[in-house]
Amino acid sequence: MTEPLIDPFHRAIDYLRVSVTDRCDFRCVYCMSENMTFLPKKELLTLEELDRMCSAFVGLGVQKLRITGGEPLVRRGIMSFFQSMTRHLDSGALRELTLTTNGSQLEKYADDLYAAGVRRINVSMDTADEEKFAAITRWGRLPQVLRGIDAAQRAGLRIKINAVALKGFNEDELISITEWCASRDMDLTWIEVMPMGDIGNEDRLGQYWPLKDLRARLAEHYTVTDIPERTGGPARYVRLEETGQKIGFITPLTHNFCESCNRVRLTCTGELYMCLGQEDMADLRPPLRNHPQDIAPLQDAIRAAIARKPKGHDFDYSRQTVDGKMPRHMSHTGG
Ligand code: SAM
Ligand code: SF4
Repeated sequence: MTEPLIDPFHRAIDYLRVSVTDRCDFRCVYCMSENMTFLPKKELLTLEELDRMCSAFVGLGVQKLRITGGEPLVRRGIMSFFQSMTRHLDSGALRELTLTTNGSQLEKYADDLYAAGVRRINVSMDTADEEKFAAITRWGRLPQVLRGIDAAQRAGLRIKINAVALKGFNEDELISITEWCASRDMDLTWIEVMPMGDIGNEDRLGQYWPLKDLRARLAEHYTVTDIPERTGGPARYVRLEETGQKIGFITPLTHNFCESCNRVRLTCTGELYMCLGQEDMADLRPPLRNHPQDIAPLQDAIRAAIARKPKGHDFDYSRQTVDGKMPRHMSHTGG
């Protein structure tokens, strides 16, 4: 039995998020500019390399794998990668294989995802209004995503909706989105907008809708009870007594969640980021490519990287300037 991955602050790292592409069929205003320059395809890890990389982590005790991007389901051949990860679920090494998606390709892939062993997925959707949806995603169309959600539920996938809380944009939909999720038996998590990437002229401070305010508004309509559930990530949960729903809040800016962090992020080019909010990374491509027959050098490099995982990040909106801002895009590190 290999030693599990423990970082210098005694946190066990058992959750890997993997960005499988930086490309996307949407252009959400808080995530990307309209004219993005994406990486040349040859820079990306091949599907076989992604398999070796993930398998190396699973061999070191990673139990949860979340596939993200960009939009993971626009990567060509991605279903074969999911199917190859099924073996780690079958062996019991991996507890959960999941993904975060914008839902645009779910109609096509929901059954295959279920067959590969995926049971729960996150679907990002910030508004249930067709026009607003087209405005916020620029290139997305709501009916396509709704058909994807239908297909996913028919396939047996449990869905959590992720919505970015945007001041003056979806504030007026707080209750209607909550009721819609309740009526479809879907969990809902609100995400505070983060200062990631250089995306043009968007006014981030104007977009920022503190979840404390959102929560207070929910409490005007429902009985809101804190639940102690922790996932090792930045989410905190409440239950709405009237609907029985679980609502999550991801508040990386106003809540210090770093002390229980159990995760690291791999980019589509093989860089391992130990913290979403810090620049330090380890390039795992050389040990991966230089030793095609031997996984030990790659696993040594992973251990060395985990040994440098920082204590926490430095985002701070409190001085009304976006301090600690990262030049990276979410679509690069994987949301
Ligand atoms: N394309 C997929 C999707 O949209 O679900 C997966 C990648 S996306 C980068 C992952 C999540 O990050 C989405 O829920 C998205 O809303 C969120 N996100 C992107 N940019 C963000 C930002 N600046 N602040 C907060 N959340 C952001
Ligand atoms: Fe694409 Fe997701 Fe970013 Fe929107 S949030 S542009 S869907 S990667």
